[in-house]
Amino acid sequence: MTMKDDVIELDGSQGEGGGQVLRSALTLSMITGRPFRIVNIRANRAKPGLMRQHLVSVQAAAAVCGADVAQAAVGARELAFRPGRIRGGTYNFAIGTAGSSTLVLQTLLPALLFGDAPSTVTVSGGTHNPKAPPAHFLQRSYGRVMAGMGAEMSIELKRHGFYPAGGGEIVARVQPCAQLRRIELMAPGERRDAYAESLVAAVPSRVARRELECVAAGLGWAESQLHERRLPDDEAPGNALLITLDAEHVTEVFAGFGEKAVRAEEVAKQALGEARRYLASGAAVGEHLADQLLLPMALAGGGRFTLDRVSQHALTNADVIGRFLPVDIRFEAGERHSTCTISAR
Ligand code: ATP
Repeated sequence: MTMKDDVIELDGSQGEGGGQVLRSALTLSMITGRPFRIVNIRANRAKPGLMRQHLVSVQAAAAVCGADVAQAAVGARELAFRPGRIRGGTYNFAIGTAGSSTLVLQTLLPALLFGDAPSTVTVSGGTHNPKAPPAHFLQRSYGRVMAGMGAEMSIELKRHGFYPAGGGEIVARVQPCAQLRRIELMAPGERRDAYAESLVAAVPSRVARRELECVAAGLGWAESQLHERRLPDDEAPGNALLITLDAEHVTEVFAGFGEKAVRAEEVAKQALGEARRYLASGAAVGEHLADQLLLPMALAGGGRFTLDRVSQHALTNADVIGRFLPVDIRFEAGERHSTCTISAR
């Protein structure tokens, strides 16, 4: 038996015990060709097992690489996945709820770089969900780092989809890339732009105004940096607040998500809290971008970056990556921020 046939056994309750263990395993299994089996999927979540978003990630991964996949259904706590070859092409995946389309893309995009032809992937569902990357984050933040590593991909937001209505659509185009480049992101560099946007769909303008005023007060920003973005009513109802910090080496996007009965000030507090922590740390990378960079950097064979906070999420993701790829991922705490180093084992 070759190493490629060895089934990697994963326990979904490890570390954070959420959906990331599964998503990273799917991506890495597709790329390395190594099959895996996972038990206790999302064991630490209130509703354990596969939810629609995770099931669509499994089905999408299986479709793209012709995988053999057993036991995939909503609620399933175990799964076996035996990948085939990654095939570029045109794909359409519908989550059918407001489940996060961006997390389905997070699973597929790195794998499609290793396809045999260019791909166009359309995913419908939520595009601005709590606890997931907003589509604008994928475009501006993740997409920019990936471009710096030599990946050619574009992410087009066709329609916004907010929780709980969903109905959004994102189209991603990916060119195959023989090898990702190693990069280092040690500091953000000179500020190029900084602005806040309140996206509002069938939500009163005064909500947007209050959110934007909180950002202005919290960051000392001018009126010219604040933008209300009114969306068509057929993308409604929904609201998200985005704070974008665009610097020489990295773009960060911090988000707050409107919800029924949640005050505009609370939505702003969420985004503002993350943005201020990031700015105070002097790190290049914020908490969320950090956990999402580990996988591409490991595929590049190494890399290094400073981050404002080492989350349980990043540590769990680092463990899963180490099961599939011969890399060491180390986090070292400094005075204001930490440094992550990824090196070949
Ligand atoms: P569960 O944990 O319930 O299974 P899940 O599968 O939807 O949920 P997680 O495992 O928590 O999700 O992973 C969420 C992913 O979304 C992580 O990669 C995290 O960095 C990213 N993320 C969460 N919030 C943001 C945000 N505001 N901006 C960018 N990325 C985000």
